Amino acid sequence: MTIKAKHQILIVGGGTAGITVAARLRRKGYADVAVIEPNDQHYYQPLWTLVGAGQAKASTTVRPESSVMPKGVTWIRNAASAFDPDANTVTCADGATYEYDALVVSPGIQLDWNRTEGLERALGHNGVSSNYKFDLAPKTWEFIRNTRSGSAVFTMPSGPIKCGGAPQKIAYLASDYWRREGVLDKIDVHLVLPTPRAFGIPEIADNLDKVIADYGIQLHTMSEVTAVDGDSKKVSLSAVGEGGTDGTLAYDVLHVVPRQSAPDWIKTSPLSTGDDNGYVDVDKFTMQHVRYPNVFGLGDAGSTPNSKTGAAVRKQAPVVVENIDAYLKGRPLSAEYDGYSSCPIVTSSHDMLLAEFDYDLRLEPSFPILDPTKPHRPYWYLKKYGLPWLYWNLMLKGLA
Ligand SMILES: Cc1cc2nc3c(=O)[nH]c(=O)nc-3n(C[C@H](O)[C@H](O)[C@H](O)COP(=O)(O)OP(=O)(O)OC[C@H]3O[C@@H](n4cnc5c(N)ncnc54)[C@H](O)[C@@H]3O)c2cc1C
Repeated sequence: MTIKAKHQILIVGGGTAGITVAARLRRKGYADVAVIEPNDQHYYQPLWTLVGAGQAKASTTVRPESSVMPKGVTWIRNAASAFDPDANTVTCADGATYEYDALVVSPGIQLDWNRTEGLERALGHNGVSSNYKFDLAPKTWEFIRNTRSGSAVFTMPSGPIKCGGAPQKIAYLASDYWRREGVLDKIDVHLVLPTPRAFGIPEIADNLDKVIADYGIQLHTMSEVTAVDGDSKKVSLSAVGEGGTDGTLAYDVLHVVPRQSAPDWIKTSPLSTGDDNGYVDVDKFTMQHVRYPNVFGLGDAGSTPNSKTGAAVRKQAPVVVENIDAYLKGRPLSAEYDGYSSCPIVTSSHDMLLAEFDYDLRLEPSFPILDPTKPHRPYWYLKKYGLPWLYWNLMLKGLA
């Protein structure tokens, strides 16, 4: 095998995690960092929820990848397709092979649209949309805006997904819009969740129950949508555990979140956990691979059992950088990630609940002055303006 190039630190994936780690490595003085990333565009996905609710423009969520690539970092415009961690190499789709001293794996999560029967065919027409795709989020808004009566169904699949709050946020934002338009009482709103409650922390679930009751949303817990019939505009529901619902629901508007898993090529690679999820098998504290000490993983593709969000990446990235530095200098790894994640649950066009917690679901509020279990108005402004600013100007530059 011919090696096309060698880089001291090679990063697979130039999304939220890859760019944040690259910027931090450059700030730490590492001169030879390369990012393998096939996409010309970089997305700020958290705003797609507001795009779907007509509160932000899709164009504000995307920038050229070249504009976020840190200065001095080599951008390899290609898709990685195979790892050989014994030879310290990554091979790309065009056959080019790159060697590394240390590897960071962060290619994100895979959206498995095809694992829900009928979904791919129905997507994008006749009221079916998803905020999980850049080009579909504006469609969500079109369908919500044009609905004046009938039935609306919002779904969350079982298994790990990115931003576990996103499936329900859009249900609240749509209901809020319909209430402001005076049509909410003509629409049956259904929220289908695979979990026993709307949130894993009881105090937060209690307050979300109030939001759900206030909008008159019919909550189906321990259930998921297993099939979409786009022609007759019906979904099939299946119980995923005790108390779940089996049956069908008719819809006029349907917001679907697809099932998700590690990218297929990660699942079958030597870096995978080898279980059904197949994520990159890293230590949940140090982010170091459990079998290959010069490999680190973070973000949505990592096996760490935190809630998969950009907020989690913000706390993981400094740990990865500290520990790569220690590894390359032959020191013990001392930085640890505590599982921090945050779930900003927008509950109306002017309120948001900011749940911040660690691996043990202990609350870790950044602004303890505001009760973290309840929605507050300042958080909505944080979501719409503060967090995007922080993302583009500080996080991707390795400053936050
Ligand atoms: C609708 C929605 C709402 C969300 N809301 C929030 C929120 O409110 N707060 C929050 O913190 N997070 C939120 N998130 C989640 C957040 O966007 C992700 O958790 C975060 O982007 C994960 O970063 P990542 O780098 O792991 O993955 P990504 O940012 O998805 O980046 C992965 C990168 O890897 C690249 N890649 C893929 N395959 C390959 C390959 N073979 N070779 C090389 N590169 C590859 C991709 O092109 C991409 O650039 C939301 C996400 C969605 C979809």
